[in-house]
Amino acid sequence: MAAKRRFQTVKGMHDLVGKAPAFAFVEEKVREVFSLYGYDEVRTPVVEETELFVRGVGEASEIVGKQMYTFADKRGRSLTLRPEGTAPVARAYLQNNWASGPQPVKVFYMGPYFRYERPQEGRYRQFHQIGAELIGDPGPYSDVELLVMLLRFLAELGFEDLEVGLNSVGDPDCRQRYSRRLREYLEPHGDDLGADSRRRLETNPLRILDTKAPRERELLEGAPRLRDELGGPARDHFQVVCDELGRFGVDFEIDDRLVRGLDYYTRTVFEITSTALGAQNAILGGGRYDGLIAELGGPSVPGIGFAIGQDRLVDLVLKIPGARQRLNVEDHRRRPVCVIPIGASYRRHGMELAQELRAAGIPAICEFDSLRPLKARLKQAARHDCQWVLLFGEDEEKNGEVVLRDFNDGSQETIPREGFAAAVAAKIRPDEQS
Ligand code: AMP
Repeated sequence: MAAKRRFQTVKGMHDLVGKAPAFAFVEEKVREVFSLYGYDEVRTPVVEETELFVRGVGEASEIVGKQMYTFADKRGRSLTLRPEGTAPVARAYLQNNWASGPQPVKVFYMGPYFRYERPQEGRYRQFHQIGAELIGDPGPYSDVELLVMLLRFLAELGFEDLEVGLNSVGDPDCRQRYSRRLREYLEPHGDDLGADSRRRLETNPLRILDTKAPRERELLEGAPRLRDELGGPARDHFQVVCDELGRFGVDFEIDDRLVRGLDYYTRTVFEITSTALGAQNAILGGGRYDGLIAELGGPSVPGIGFAIGQDRLVDLVLKIPGARQRLNVEDHRRRPVCVIPIGASYRRHGMELAQELRAAGIPAICEFDSLRPLKARLKQAARHDCQWVLLFGEDEEKNGEVVLRDFNDGSQETIPREGFAAAVAAKIRPDEQS
C-alpha cells in the first residue's frame, strides 16, 4: 500500500515555530504604547468583498493587479483575503458610523494579511501587520503625533538606528501635474527604461520613482522633483510636519523618491527601514489618505495611518540583545513547575496539586505517565525547561507533605501539603513576595 502523503504549509506560508512569544511581546507593547495615545483596538474580518480593495487600494496598484488571493464563494460572490488593513478600517468606519462618535477616530489592529508575491527572505504570502489609523483630522499635527507614537513604540522595543524617510506626494492635482512633467521628462529616454517602467509611464509614472534598476535611478537624478510641484496647501502642510518632527526629536530624511505602492496616499508619506534586514529592508510604511473614504462612497474625511511588517519587526527584535534578554525574563517567569505523581493511583492528586499551583498563578504541568521510571519522567520535566519539580506519592500522602526539587542544584525540600502553593510561590519568586 502506498504511504500516505504528508502535508506541508502552502508555499510562502509558515508555522511560527518558536517565534510566538516574540510576536506576543511585540503585541503587548503595541497595546501599551498605542493606548497611551488614545488608540482602541479593532479586529476586522480576514475576508472582504474584492471590490473594496479594487476601489480602495487602486486598480493600477501592484497589489490589486497581481497579488490578491481572490476567490468566488458558493454563491459566486467575489471575495478576497485582505492584502492590507487600511481599506477594511475605512469600510468599518463607514459601516459602523464612527463619524457620529468622538473625533478623530483612532484605531489600531494586528493580524495576518495575504499577498501572492514571490516568496523570499522577509517576504511571505501570509505575513502579519500591525497598523494604526487616525481618521477625521486633516491637520499636520496628527501626522506628527502619529510618527512620534510610532518612534516611541520602536524605541521601547529597543531600536536605535532606524532610518526614517519622509516625503509628500501632494494632493491629486499636484500629482497629476507632476505625473505629466515626469512623463515628458522620461518619454525621450524610453529605451533606457525596463518593461515595467515603460508600462508605468502610461499607467502610473510616479511609481517609476521607486525603481531599483541602476540605469533608471541614474536617469531619475535629473528628473523634476515632486516636491517642487506641490501646491500651496500641500507645501505648507509638509513644512509644518517637517518643522514639528524636528522639534519633537524625530530624526528623518526627506526622500524625494518615496511614493509608496498604494494608490490612496495624499500628502505625507513615510517609510522606516533597517539596514540589518538585507534586501527587504522596509519595516513599515504609511501616509495620509485624504481621498480614501470618499472613494469608498463616504463623505470627504481625511485620514492617516501606517502598517508595520510584524514578521520583519520580530526578526529584528530578536537581534537586539536587550530585547532578547527582556523576552527571556518574561519566558523565565512562565517556566512551569512540573508535578510528578508517583504511582498510578496518585495521578488524580497530581492533577489537584497542579490546579492549586495554577490557582496561585504559578504555571504548572503534570507528568501523568506513571508507567515510566522516575528518571525518565524527570528527564521530560527538564526537556520542558522546568526548574522545579513537585513530587507526590504514597509517603508524601501519609505524611501530609510534598517534595519540591530544584533542578539547578539538585537540592530538594519537604513542604507541608496544606498551603503548599503559597510556600512554592515564595520559594520560586522571592522578589514578588511583599
Ligand atoms: P505595505 O502595506 O505594502 O505598505 O507594507 C507595510 C509593511 O508590511 C512593509 O514595510 C513590510 O514590512 C510588510 N510587508 C508587506 N508585504 C509583505 C510580505 N509579503 N511579507 C512580509 N512582510 C510584508
